[in-house]
Amino acid sequence: MSDIIRRDPRAEWIARNRLHPLHAAMQSQNQTSWMGPNGLMRKNPHAIAAGFIGPAGIKRIDRSGAQQGGGQKRGAASAAVQLPLHLVEQPSHIIAVVPDMVGGRLSSHDKDLLGLARQLAGDSGAVLAVLFGEDKESAFDSAGVDRLLRIAGETFDGYAPEARVLALSAVDGQFAPRHWLLPDSRTGGGELGRRLAAKLGERPATRVWQVANEQCIGRAGAGQQDIQRALPRLILAAAECAEPVSETRHEARPVELAAPVAHSLTRLQDLGPVAVDPAQIPMAEAEFILSGGNGVKDWELFHQAAVALGATEGASRVAVDDGFMPRNRQVGATGTWVTARVYMAVGISGAIQHLQGIGACDKVVAVNLDPGCDMIKRADLSVIGDSAAILKALLERVAAWRQEGKRDAA
Ligand SMILES: Cc1cc2nc3c(=O)[nH]c(=O)nc-3n(C[C@H](O)[C@H](O)[C@H](O)COP(=O)(O)OP(=O)(O)OC[C@H]3O[C@@H](n4cnc5c(N)ncnc54)[C@H](O)[C@@H]3O)c2cc1C
Repeated sequence: MSDIIRRDPRAEWIARNRLHPLHAAMQSQNQTSWMGPNGLMRKNPHAIAAGFIGPAGIKRIDRSGAQQGGGQKRGAASAAVQLPLHLVEQPSHIIAVVPDMVGGRLSSHDKDLLGLARQLAGDSGAVLAVLFGEDKESAFDSAGVDRLLRIAGETFDGYAPEARVLALSAVDGQFAPRHWLLPDSRTGGGELGRRLAAKLGERPATRVWQVANEQCIGRAGAGQQDIQRALPRLILAAAECAEPVSETRHEARPVELAAPVAHSLTRLQDLGPVAVDPAQIPMAEAEFILSGGNGVKDWELFHQAAVALGATEGASRVAVDDGFMPRNRQVGATGTWVTARVYMAVGISGAIQHLQGIGACDKVVAVNLDPGCDMIKRADLSVIGDSAAILKALLERVAAWRQEGKRDAA
């Protein structure tokens, strides 16, 4: 058995949520003190209440580490938990969701949407996820999917909104969903949802961030206003429109279209992605950010690493204040709030103002000398060591990998 501590984000979320039915099972015996990295005994003054949703719904922060991957008994507790299976044999109605599946996996936006779909499905309805092309996802069951419809074929690969809308219209005919849910995103759902609305003759609610009592509220007016309206059939929802599913497992039973989709449209041709300079991508839209802080000692090496990895550069406020990075690259409360799928923090301690800015990032990788720092507690993957040595090793690995690729292609 390896000594590497593997994180389980769902178990950690339950451990932080005192209202969750499995909360007690996830507790690491309310650890009140532990040995710090320098041999000092550390005390957690908030031992019982650290990291939970307060009575007013405000998130309280746990920086003790006891509930964020440092807990000794965490692995054992999470292994023991088996979520109850929610079965819907004869659904009274269907809620159809078309996740973006960027990179072939459910994004956090997709999971929020599935959480909203589950609310709308209730006990007797079923959530139907409609996917196009290949995917690498293995957690549809825990994300709340009762029925899974995969629509394959090269007509639907890449940028193919017309073919996809035709397929969705066939799904509409066969399953007659009570609601359609798509992410109101720039990664596919926003455009596909609007095209689907035109095809079905529905007036969609856009940028929806709240649904309750058959009403929904969506952002409007360049984000300055909210529009409340009766819940329509087609909903294009914003990220964080609902909590993702966390208390039940679902069947994700495969279903098929009764007849193949007839497609004869050739108005659009996908010529493939265009390479963009990561340095030109606005921070808030970047998918992969390499961010440097006070622990970066060789900035030339940092820039080389960003180019080699194809990452957009970010920085902590200290790195900006010290003049190593421009102000528009600052990540955090007083900089840009980023939503990258991968955020790599090199030599950044994880001050609360910085962590606020990366709250919506999917995966965080931390490179730091201090195994006890808050960035390491936040990270999904940590590398303990000197930033220069690790960036150098990373550059060598990338070069070797590219070389291998060229050899294979030759
Ligand atoms: C009102 C206010 C607003 C703020 N807004 C922001 C904001 O928007 N964004 C922001 O980032 N900060 C903000 N700050 C500042 C914030 O509190 C921190 O001071 C800052 O984030 C720390 O930056 P840092 O992690 O790069 O530096 P430090 O805290 O100095 O951390 C450096 C890290 O590098 C590690 N390290 C050192 N040497 C090496 C090495 N050779 N190899 C690897 N690791 C190494 C250390 O272990 C340490 O963890 C704000 C502060 C205030 C008061």
